[in-house]
Amino acid sequence: MSIKNRRDMLHNNQRSHYIGQLNESLTGRRVFVAGWVEDIRDIGRLVFVILRDSTGSIQAVARGQHLNQVKEISRQSSVVIGGSIRKSDARDSPIEIGIEEIVVASRAAYPLPIDGTGRVSSSMDKRIDSRALDLRNPSVSGIFKLRGLVLSSIRESLLTKGFLEVNTPKIIGTASEGGANLFGFDYFKRKAYLAQSPQLYKEELIISLDRVFEIGPYFRSEKSHTVRHLSEFTSVDIEAAFVDYEFTMSILEGLVKGVVRKVSGAFSDLAPLRDLALKLGSNGSIEKLTYKQCLEELWNNGEKIEFGADLTDSSLRLLGERHTGFYFITDWPTELKPFYIQDKRQDPELSESFDLQYGYLELASGGTRLHDKERLQARLEQKGLRPENFADHLKVFDWGMPPHAGWGLGFDRFMMVLTDCQNIREVVLFPRDVERLHP
Ligand code: ATP
Ligand code: MG
Repeated sequence: MSIKNRRDMLHNNQRSHYIGQLNESLTGRRVFVAGWVEDIRDIGRLVFVILRDSTGSIQAVARGQHLNQVKEISRQSSVVIGGSIRKSDARDSPIEIGIEEIVVASRAAYPLPIDGTGRVSSSMDKRIDSRALDLRNPSVSGIFKLRGLVLSSIRESLLTKGFLEVNTPKIIGTASEGGANLFGFDYFKRKAYLAQSPQLYKEELIISLDRVFEIGPYFRSEKSHTVRHLSEFTSVDIEAAFVDYEFTMSILEGLVKGVVRKVSGAFSDLAPLRDLALKLGSNGSIEKLTYKQCLEELWNNGEKIEFGADLTDSSLRLLGERHTGFYFITDWPTELKPFYIQDKRQDPELSESFDLQYGYLELASGGTRLHDKERLQARLEQKGLRPENFADHLKVFDWGMPPHAGWGLGFDRFMMVLTDCQNIREVVLFPRDVERLHP
């Protein structure tokens, strides 16, 4: 093949089909496909190439003049193949491509740091060190295709309920929820921080925009080594005016059910999604347990937790054994919740708050917010925070702040549930934790 033709094949948008579009109705047609060599089998007078692209894989067969060239190609090299579709004797595919032209766009090194097909397993760390190659394994890229679909499904669900998508700053001048867990850095000779959540901004926005949501990255300097915490994670946050925590719980419930229904249709071969869809049913609503009911259950199972204590990992695991799917824990002690959470009028020791759980795993936290400036100021002081550090936020409460409520859903944790992955690192492309800042 001449250099001119080689360039044409690689650069001239030569691809006629994605592999996922090939089917028996194209038998006899000449096609151009592009992707990477997943496998090569040399049986002497024939060489079988398994070619994969982002949509699927197909067997391509070389013979005659192409044999020697194809035998030299290393696995994972990127190639363009021109050839004709014909019936195949292969067990798993009715069609194959008879290779008429093949151009190597880029040769993959040998050996590679991990097996891009996933057939030879590697540790999580090694896989993340070579994440781009790891993604050539269809069961890994499948997780991220699902992630993209879930994101668009969440957007659709919130947009139809009248929420406006917004973007608030991630570089901030004061700690939004007190000082703990904040990453600070030098910002033109001043101190700045990475946002832990959009909490204060989203509350400020509802005085005019009424219902807002944001999907964005947040940062927490958590020195924990767990399978559910990262230093950078993605959160879905909503905030709405003139509603309370009950209303926002129903929005969250509708969102979870809608997403499960939608994605289990699109990814019907993914077992965890099938199970989730069954668990949710069509009318079944997500169970609500109060914090006090959780304490009773824990007492009955030998965990003597006093009122006011946070539910530790071991308590949550015990609850998770008894409640294996989605459930809400509502009405937490006011003491345990952040300063902006509204206490209950009849019982100020308790608050209008909730967490959404899946088994032991906390997925979301939300509640009705205080909208009275004096009470908010008093609560800041009770929590040992200085109201003057929150001046930008407090002044908004002088401008006609309506009652409001909202929640934040840890999106990566939600993806763990949807994919049945036990480690958050499986569902985040390039995770950041205490040990990891690369790649
Ligand atoms: P946890 O108790 O599990 O550390 P939290 O109560 O501190 O979580 P919130 O401040 O309530 O977290 O944040 C809202 C949601 O964001 C959580 O329910 C969780 O799903 C997610 N989230 C919080 N911190 C992290 C993190 N470090 N990594 C991943 N997701 C997180
Ligand atoms: Mg929480």
